[in-house]
Amino acid sequence: MKESVNPYDGEKLFQFKELNNSELEEKIKASHECFLDWKKTSYEERSKLMFKAAEELRNNKRKYAEIITKEMGKPISQSIAEVEKCAWACEYYAENSENQLQDEIIETDAETSYVKYQPLGVILAVMPWNYPFWQVFRFVAPNLMAGNVGILKHASNVMKSAEMIQEVFENAGFPKGCFQNLVLSSDKIKSVIENDLVKAVTLTGSKPAGASVASIAGENIKKSVLELGGSNALVVFEDANLDETVETCAMARFQNVGQSCIAGKRLLVHRSIAEEFTEKYVEKVKSFKVGDPMAEDTYIGVMAREDLAEDLEKQVSGSIEMGAKVVLGGNRKGTFFEPTILSEVTVDMPIFKEETFGPAIGITIFDTDEEAVELSNNSVFGLGVSIFSSNKDRVEKLIPQFDEGAVFVNELVKSDPRLPFGGVGISGYGRELSSHGIKEFLNKKTVYIK
Ligand code: NDP
Repeated sequence: MKESVNPYDGEKLFQFKELNNSELEEKIKASHECFLDWKKTSYEERSKLMFKAAEELRNNKRKYAEIITKEMGKPISQSIAEVEKCAWACEYYAENSENQLQDEIIETDAETSYVKYQPLGVILAVMPWNYPFWQVFRFVAPNLMAGNVGILKHASNVMKSAEMIQEVFENAGFPKGCFQNLVLSSDKIKSVIENDLVKAVTLTGSKPAGASVASIAGENIKKSVLELGGSNALVVFEDANLDETVETCAMARFQNVGQSCIAGKRLLVHRSIAEEFTEKYVEKVKSFKVGDPMAEDTYIGVMAREDLAEDLEKQVSGSIEMGAKVVLGGNRKGTFFEPTILSEVTVDMPIFKEETFGPAIGITIFDTDEEAVELSNNSVFGLGVSIFSSNKDRVEKLIPQFDEGAVFVNELVKSDPRLPFGGVGISGYGRELSSHGIKEFLNKKTVYIK
């Protein structure tokens, strides 16, 4: 049995019965049968339905957002923004897929030669709780438009969100089986990947989950895409616009109560501005309204689960024991973690070395550009980095030196349907979103006509 519990007040919300083996088999079969028809539909038909899905989301954004907030504690205004972003992804792919998947002519000695993009079939998505809607839509919108069908194993604490996502597609008029939610435990994932009708798998989550899923996929010669989190640096140079940078760096760490793979998790600041920057940063973070996630003006609610808050507590206290100084916060009560800022952070401390998935950040000082790059690259993750400077030449020189999937300048790292999203190192492999993401689970068929 799966259960959703409101992390703010402990209320037991919903219960879900897990699928037994034969129910699971039936669902996968239904997906495959749906695929056999779905792959023959035109882009126009798919696009019409995808616009309807966007409409369904926009028209009912409050209803869907409340489920997100109840299940994992995201402040309601941010849940509404998440639902709207899902609608944007649906619209983006409804408008652009046909163009993105045109045959790609390549001149050779043939009379005609080209690449034809064709769908693979049933794709499994294993998804996390931190953006319960967005993580799923950024997988499912491109894949449905490309002619694949999707099955979802969502995180155990957000099964109502998963059910609602299936409802979005049903209400939009997609054929039954195009997108199905599976109420499953992670120990059943092996049998799903091994099923001959399942062609590939994508996972967003932790390294152990990713490693397990990818190795099962590997044994079965099935493609996987992994998005496994990060420890992005926010690098503030002395010529940055200080006030704007403070605002951006505060949002980069504290939105979604810090529970984002692309959050800025390590603040690197040039020595000459460190004192002034820290003062302003603390003031900004103090100004965030803390409280009930359901209140419209709350910016910091609670973390999604108490065990995650306990993990963060260990990382913060471990860093303090090693010499970090508390500038703000530092304490936990249940799922609530005070917005926390530590200074004098060194590279061997947990808050620097590990991924911190909550509202805490450490400040480390640097003196030169080389040192800033070295500190930023001193991480096993490689999802992204934000750098702040008003000197374009300096920025252009620095961009290639970061070992990351993305470099954002004077902006927080964010996902955008138009841009590829993914990492290097243990942040994973493959790309989501944009014209790159839609091609991950396709047969790139070579055609050669003499
Ligand atoms: P997990 O990686 O455990 O969960 C993510 C998804 O993977 C869930 O659906 C989970 O199911 C499933 N899963 C877990 N283990 C396996 C497995 N062995 N085989 C197949 N599926 C599996 O993340 P947690 O929720 O435990 O969070 C732990 C840490 O992971 C966070 O602190 C953060 O560092 C990182 N994380 C990164 C995210 C990102 O956006 N990249 C998102 C969430 C977490 P179930 O819930 O049933 O266990």
